Amino acid sequence: MAGIWIYSEDCAVALQLLTAGQNLAYKLNEKITAITTNQEGAADLIACGADKVMVLAGQTDWVENYAQPIAAVLRDENPKVVLLGGTLRGKAVAANLAAQLKSGLVNSAFSIDGQEGSIETKRMMYGGLAVCTEVLSDGCIVTIEPRTYEKANTDASNSGEVVTSDVSLASEVHVDRIEPIVRQGADITAAKTVICVGRGLSAQEDMKLAEMLVQKTGGVIGCTRSIAEDYHWLPAEAYIGLSGQKVKPDLYLAFGVSGQIQHVAGIRDAKIIAAIDKNENAPIFAAADYGIVGDLHEIVPALIEKLG
Ligand SMILES: Cc1cc2nc3c(=O)[nH]c(=O)nc-3n(C[C@H](O)[C@H](O)[C@H](O)COP(=O)(O)OP(=O)(O)OC[C@H]3O[C@@H](n4cnc5c(N)ncnc54)[C@H](O)[C@@H]3O)c2cc1C
Repeated sequence: MAGIWIYSEDCAVALQLLTAGQNLAYKLNEKITAITTNQEGAADLIACGADKVMVLAGQTDWVENYAQPIAAVLRDENPKVVLLGGTLRGKAVAANLAAQLKSGLVNSAFSIDGQEGSIETKRMMYGGLAVCTEVLSDGCIVTIEPRTYEKANTDASNSGEVVTSDVSLASEVHVDRIEPIVRQGADITAAKTVICVGRGLSAQEDMKLAEMLVQKTGGVIGCTRSIAEDYHWLPAEAYIGLSGQKVKPDLYLAFGVSGQIQHVAGIRDAKIIAAIDKNENAPIFAAADYGIVGDLHEIVPALIEKLG
């Protein structure tokens, strides 16, 4: 079995995978090969630690069509492990590859490490109630979600081989047109400060409190599923959690959010979690670095005033 292999249709995510890949390569004494469909991105992949870049040059807007040629490459190369960007489309490619190669598949690993020749992954299970640790068999495919790892450091003096292969892409799917989703608000996944609201707001008018906090902090408003899906006060893309967005801000500040496990699954990577809730036993306090027990209608205006 040879090498750590990396692929993401999203160039930024591929550079994040290289951080995990470099650690594995160092511990297992393996080389890293990155597969890409983007010739222009090859130099960045080398600068960020890939020993070799394999460019698959084909004509399609449909990322999933690359599963076939990627599987053909991997079948010949017998990788030790294949890391794929855990985007929605990356996960579709991962499932396709695992089926074609009859290999194991670990989805949404938040940690991957190598020791004494073997590779261990960790991922959440039971909606975030437990962590599942798995030791991989050779050739396993692992998806890692965007922003799980920072982008690998760039070293312009790195050198590596770039091999370009023309691939013909058989497709059973005819794409008529592509309509990107138009965001209704700011991207909470990239925000440095997230002000999160929950059902503790007594009326939609209370959203003004969040808006004022956002003005003071330069943050972005997020919410629990209930606020988006039941009350429709914010778009679905604003809700955070297991079935919503995963955020990674420097500061996540919540008020009126109980902190159910499905919500907390989306904020685990926040650097600082602060919460205001009138119930001292609210589970959000178990996840929080800082907590204030009290009525949000008193605490939040006081906080806004303090922030000037
Ligand atoms: C399969 C599944 C997936 C799910 N996925 C998600 C997900 O991705 N994201 C998500 O958010 N949820 C998700 N949920 C729903 C989740 O279980 C909770 O129901 C939801 O997160 C609760 O939202 P909340 O905190 O706004 O409301 P509540 O749980 O009702 O909490 C409201 C909080 O406000 C406090 N409060 C009330 N009044 C005040 C006041 N005046 N001042 C201060 N505090 C006050 C209360 O004490 C309470 O803690 C999922 C559920 C399931 C079953």
